[in-house]
Amino acid sequence: MSRHSARGSEYAKLRRHWLETADHGWVCHLCGRPVHLDVPPRSPDAPTIDHVIPVGVGGSKLDTRYWRLAHYRCNRRRSTAPLLEPTQGATRTW
Ligand SMILES: [Zn+2]
Repeated sequence: MSRHSARGSEYAKLRRHWLETADHGWVCHLCGRPVHLDVPPRSPDAPTIDHVIPVGVGGSKLDTRYWRLAHYRCNRRRSTAPLLEPTQGATRTW
C-alpha cells in the first residue's frame, strides 16, 4: 500500500486555507512581529507554518492544531529544534 500520492497537494491546499482563515492573528509566534500573506515565498519575511509538535512525536503534519505562523527566517533559524510545551508527567523537574 502506498500513501505518498497527493500528499503534497493536500498539504498545500490545507496550508493555504489555514493561512487565510486560522486565528493566528498574522503574528509570527517566534518573534512576535507581523506576518504578511503577500510576501513572496522565498523571502525572509514570507509566511511559513511551524509545526510545534514534530510528526515523529505524535503530531500529524496535517493537524492544524499544532500549526503556528512564523516568518520563513524565524522558522529556519529554529530549524528542527522541538518547541514542546511542558507536559504533565515530564521526566525532568526544575
Ligand atoms: Zn518572525
